[in-house]
Parts: sequence; structure tokens; C-alpha cells
Amino acid sequence: MADASEFSPMGALDIAGLQDGFRGDLLRPEDPGYEDARKVWNGSINRFPAIIARCAGVADVIAAVKFAKDTGLLVAVRGGGHSYPGLSVCDGGLVIDLSLMKGIRVDPEARTVRAQAGVLLGEVDRETQAFGLALPSGIVTHTGLSGLTLGGGINWLQRKYGLTIDQLLSVDLITAEGEFVKASASENEDLFWGVRGGGGNFGIVTDFEFRLNPVGPTVLAGPIFWPIEEAPNVLRFYREWILETPDELMTIVTNRKAPPLSFVPRELHGKLIVGVACCFAGPIEEGEKVVKPLKEFGSPVLDVCVPKPYLAHQAMFDPSFPHGRWYYIRSCDVSQLTDEVIDITVDHALRINSPFTALTLWQRGGAVERLGEEETAFGGRSAGHTYNITGATEGSEGFDEEREWVRNFWSALEPHHTSVYVNFLMDEGEERIREAYGARKYDRLKALKRRYDPDNLFRLNQNIRPTATV
Ligand SMILES: Cc1cc2nc3c(=O)[nH]c(=O)nc-3n(C[C@H](O)[C@H](O)[C@H](O)COP(=O)(O)OP(=O)(O)OC[C@H]3O[C@@H](n4cnc5c(N)ncnc54)[C@H](O)[C@@H]3O)c2cc1C
Repeated sequence: MADASEFSPMGALDIAGLQDGFRGDLLRPEDPGYEDARKVWNGSINRFPAIIARCAGVADVIAAVKFAKDTGLLVAVRGGGHSYPGLSVCDGGLVIDLSLMKGIRVDPEARTVRAQAGVLLGEVDRETQAFGLALPSGIVTHTGLSGLTLGGGINWLQRKYGLTIDQLLSVDLITAEGEFVKASASENEDLFWGVRGGGGNFGIVTDFEFRLNPVGPTVLAGPIFWPIEEAPNVLRFYREWILETPDELMTIVTNRKAPPLSFVPRELHGKLIVGVACCFAGPIEEGEKVVKPLKEFGSPVLDVCVPKPYLAHQAMFDPSFPHGRWYYIRSCDVSQLTDEVIDITVDHALRINSPFTALTLWQRGGAVERLGEEETAFGGRSAGHTYNITGATEGSEGFDEEREWVRNFWSALEPHHTSVYVNFLMDEGEERIREAYGARKYDRLKALKRRYDPDNLFRLNQNIRPTATV
């Protein structure tokens, strides 16, 4: 196994210029805290940066960017560290780590929130729910707000309120030159368009400002499970049922082995199940009427779709995707759950092996689709469903088999792929990044990249290369 000494050019690296006045922590391989700070969510990623600059504020970020430019070090930028392919850590380079930047300020009257780049989803939920407000973000509370937002942000409230980027009012950003710029609908509009889906390609966002929506504090939410044998019928019913449900309802289908969680009866633990998890962003009584037909379909083995705190629902998937397991993910969007798509899904679900491996199949549409495809850089607004196929193991043992299962499942769906969500990509190459945006928007993003980062300082991301052609 590799260790830090293989990659660290520390002998040659003079960090005095960076140290001067730096408010945060500068961690080198020999420093306490380095080991924890270099780890990312995906345990299969094991990299050793030469230095980790844990920034305490914007001035630290500017200093770190200028240091990177001067030294020519490879740069990784870290928000919450949840990039599937581990793009927020590198071997031998500089990690600009924003995780200490935790400021959050809610304005309950204006219904807005400002959040710094190190904030996690659960932290912003905690602050906003204190006022009965919510920022539509992701479904696991320990995910970073930064990376999620910059890619788009699909979420439990999206059919009513849209993506996370659809709430974005402004950003503060540090460019590759170390300059501070603001972007909003009325200032640097082209950059504002690009950061809403274009990832960290144009600079380091230090501060986000979002619009908030009234939600909860209690919502009707949670999953209903059936035995896997009922999956073909459940999915066919589901496909028709969601054609009639209102935008307040968002659903996610899951296929996995039932986890040994407290709310899951012991006899189900380890059994393959199909589940439909719901979240109704409206009055409880209305939600109960809407989900009734689903609850009455077939023979559910567990129904925990009940009124509950929105905060509890947001944390529901946390135990299923903990830090440190080995993960391999492939994703695609499809327009419809045709019979063939359902058959492929069930066929592969029946072959799930690891207790941690799961299919998460997102419903799309509603407010996400109503905003025009050209309004933001995010690609694939008209997708019907998003497949997130996740193979996971405790460590290296069995990982190759899970990865193979993921790849086979994804390949079987290939004739039905329409688009792909950029934040669900692994390290899959330029053509896939282009697919995520579509050719026209990809060219526009390239032009923006040439303007804001012509030397591609920020390249450890789903990289939009500044070159004119693919
Ligand atoms: C458990 C889990 C659950 C998830 N659930 C959802 C979900 O519900 N909805 C959804 O849309 N996505 C979801 N995702 C995907 C998620 O959006 C991406 O993994 C996202 O990149 C995570 O952001 P991060 O800040 O944690 O990641 P990081 O690994 O820190 O960063 C990801 C990328 O963004 C760049 N970056 C991060 N912060 C900044 C910044 N401030 N400025 C510039 N560049 C930056 C990094 O350089 C890197 O390229 C989930 C991921 C995981 C692991």
C-alpha cells in the first residue's frame, strides 16, 4: 500500500509564504490530524496530498490559490468530501479544504440563507428548520452543500421547489487568479449560469446565498417495502400511479437487502426488498390521500410512511451510506420505466449480493422540468428517472464483484440512457461529461472556462477543459 512519503515533495516545498497569517490549519503528512483530514467519504480512495490547507476564511482561500499558482502544485478543492471518485483529494498536491468554513445565517423574513462552503446538508437543515423553512438539497445529511450545489442538487422537495441550484441567489467565488468575484442574476450573469451545474470548474465558491421554502416541521414521509418477488408488479403500478400524483409528492424507489435498522422487523433483515420512499411537501391529510393507493397495493411487508419531523426524514438514508465503506457507482437517466426497463431492473435487483449494495431510483419532473434546459448549466432537466446504482462493501473484500454487478446493470440499461447527472459520475472521461451537459451547453461551459480558468488550475472535478475541441 502507498504512503505519504511516496508522493510528498516536501523537501523541496517552501510553505513559509502560505504560513504567514494563515488562520486555519496547514497539515503535512507528519502533522497530527493529517490522516483524518486526507480521508474522504469513499473508502476505496486512498490518496496522500503534500499539504492540506484547512481554510478558516476567504483570505485563507485566496492565499492557498495564489500559493498553488506560484508553486504549480496540483490542486484539489474539498467541500464535504463526498465526490464519488474522490476528486477532493490528490496525491502529492495541495488540498484546499473548506470544511472549517461553517457559517450559516438564516433571514427568516426575507426567507433566505447564507452558507459558507464547508457546511453539510444536515447543518443547513438544522438552522433553516428552526424557522419552518427548508433548502431543497440532498438525501444524506453528511453530504457537502458545496459540491452538491455546484452540480445541481436533486432532493426530496425537487418536484415542488426544484433543484438546489434553482434556489441559488448569489455566490462569492475566488478565481484561479486569486481574485474575489460575486455572481448573481444581475452580476457576472454568465458565471452565475455556469456555477449552477458546472461544478468547481470556474473557481472556489466560498459563500452561497439561497432562497428558502416553507416546509414542515412535520411531513408525511418514509418508505413502504414489498418482497422482491412483488417488484415487477409494484414497479408497473408505481409507473402509472406517479402520472397522477401532485408535485408535492417526491418518491425514490429502492432495491436492496433490508438493513438491520431498528424500524425494520428482524425477520426482514437481509431479505431482498423493493421499496418506494415518499416525501409529501404539503398538508399531512392531503398527503395521506395521495399515498393511500400505494399503501394499499399488493402485500407490503413494512409501511413506515408516516407523519414525522422533516429533519428525521432528511437523515433517513444516513445509516445506509456511512463514511469509509468502499463504493462504486454508475448512473444514468431514463425517460420512462418501460416494461423492458423494469425487467432489467428486477433482473439485476434479484442478483444483489452485498448487504450494502443498493439501487436508488429517483423520480424527476415537476419543478425541475419546468425550468428551461438553457436557464442553468445543469443538464437533463426533462429526464423521467435517475438511476443511482451503488455497489458497496466494508473494504476491499468482494469489491470487484460488486463493481462488476454495477457495471453490468448499467450496461444493460444503456439502450435507454437519455442523460446523466454530473454529480453521479465516477471518473468516466470527457465524453461522459459532455453527455451530462449536452453538446451546446458543453461548448458554452468551455468558453466560460477559458475566461475564468484558462490554465485549468481547477481540474480535479468533472473537468471542463478549456480547449476548444474535445
Ligand atoms: C452519501 C451521498 C449522498 C448523496 N446524495 C445526493 C443527493 O441526495 N442529491 C444530489 O444531488 N447528490 C447527492 N450526492 C452526490 C453529491 O452531490 C456529490 O458527491 C457532491 O460532489 C458532494 O459534494 P461535497 O462537497 O461533499 O464533495 P467534495 O468531494 O468535497 O467535492 C466534490 C467536487 O466539488 C468540488 N468542490 C467542492 N466544494 C467546492 C467549492 N466550494 N468551490 C468549488 N469547487 C468545490 C470539488 O473540488 C470536487 O470536484 C450524494 C453523495 C453521497 C456520497
